[in-house]
Amino acid sequence: MAECTYCEQDLEQYDAVLVDRETDDGRTQEGAFCNYGCLSAWLDETDAATGACCRIDV
Ligand SMILES: [Zn+2]
Repeated sequence: MAECTYCEQDLEQYDAVLVDRETDDGRTQEGAFCNYGCLSAWLDETDAATGACCRIDV
């Protein structure tokens, strides 16, 4: 885990945002991002947030 999952920049120079997920085997790392902008863009591109159980009504 040394680079951003989205833009592949070296995370050392950033205060990285880490995403992990609870699975049957414990916790699995989903991704690491240099900032919330990359996390947000990654969510948009991968549809990772689609079908998430917490619903936001707009
Ligand atoms: Zn990034």
